[in-house]
Amino acid sequence: MKNQVSFKVKSKFINKYKNGYPLIDKSAILNIDTKMREGSIINLVDEKGQFIARGYYGKQNKGIGWVLTRKKQEDINLEFFKKKLIIALNKRTKFFQDPSTTAFRVFNGEGDGIGGLIIEYFDGYYVIHWYSKGVYKFRDEVINSLKKIVEFKGIYQKKRFSEDGKYIEQDDFIMGERAATPLIVKENGVNLAIYLNEGAMVGVFLDQREVRKRVRDQYSKNKSVLNTFSYTGVFSIFAALGGAKTTTSVDLANRSLPKTIEQFNINYIDAKTQEIIVEDVFKYFKYALRKELKFDFVILDPPSFATSKNFKFSAEKDYKNLLKQAILITEDNGTILASTNCSSFNMDKFKEFIHEAFKESCVEYKILEEHTLPPDFKTMEEFKEGNYLKVVFVRKMP
Ligand code: SAH
Repeated sequence: MKNQVSFKVKSKFINKYKNGYPLIDKSAILNIDTKMREGSIINLVDEKGQFIARGYYGKQNKGIGWVLTRKKQEDINLEFFKKKLIIALNKRTKFFQDPSTTAFRVFNGEGDGIGGLIIEYFDGYYVIHWYSKGVYKFRDEVINSLKKIVEFKGIYQKKRFSEDGKYIEQDDFIMGERAATPLIVKENGVNLAIYLNEGAMVGVFLDQREVRKRVRDQYSKNKSVLNTFSYTGVFSIFAALGGAKTTTSVDLANRSLPKTIEQFNINYIDAKTQEIIVEDVFKYFKYALRKELKFDFVILDPPSFATSKNFKFSAEKDYKNLLKQAILITEDNGTILASTNCSSFNMDKFKEFIHEAFKESCVEYKILEEHTLPPDFKTMEEFKEGNYLKVVFVRKMP
């Protein structure tokens, strides 16, 4: 086994770790060694030196590592990784059997027992996301286990950490055959264009799968739909396939235009019949107000943080105001899909933002449905902040 170091846990945090909290946090440790090597095995111990849990050292934006086991006898070796992968894959059997969805997550970090490691599946291709230098030190164990357990067309990886403060430009391909560019996968029967070798984001966020299905099946028929922060336009594709009268996609990034056209085209929808606008959403809201444009269904799915020319957006500070602007351009009896992936506040707080926004707008509202992460994004009771997704469908009452 790799070299092991003991971290003494402060007494007020001992029960938390004994009860299964997975994130090793600086503030909980008495004797941090700043020269510690990434990937070192850490034994969390109490003040008397009694074993509590074992994990690895790996600095992320959150925490300095993850607990891997609370069994004193359990070694962190190839067998350990293999076992965790097998358990996780077995939990996704239903996904593997469903030909109408060929893109899903097969390993979700701490939810599947290894914080900092995420693996996604795209029609025969596996993409491994490493979230720290520390977890990347286990690449041989993970890759060797994976290739023994699954049949694959190819394996890719994303290093989601920086080296010496710089992100590494890399070829993400590891082995097998290279995927087509784009690779066309399916989600509930809808085609999605995926790029496995274009940086950290592959073109679609899989965590919104169930929400997109609701958008198509329940909320779009004969509706005018505004999709803000539209990225590659996937919500608009589902809305159009659900019978939307019109779709309007708005995103600041130039790449969103060709990417959205492509997603429409591969679903046999003429992109020329849909509106795709490259612009700051906040500017678009002003334009819509001026032109007295209103929509039946407004989708809000901003990033947690964004900086544009005129404005710095933070979901925690600015979501309420974003909603207030959306309310102004939503028809009476229309629906707002309010979504956020910001992990610094929970669903209750998010619903408070919604409540405040409607109250300050002097508009009545009704919550129609709520969503959090889907089952392939496995989370754990002991780490609630891991369930970062919050989606609320809200009706604007007349
Ligand atoms: N809703 C998308 C994912 C959003 S990702 C989906 O379901 O696929 C965040 C997107 O917000 C990025 O594409 C980024 O370009 C865009 N963005 C960030 N700030 C913006 C702004 N002020 N106006 C418009 N788009 C913005």
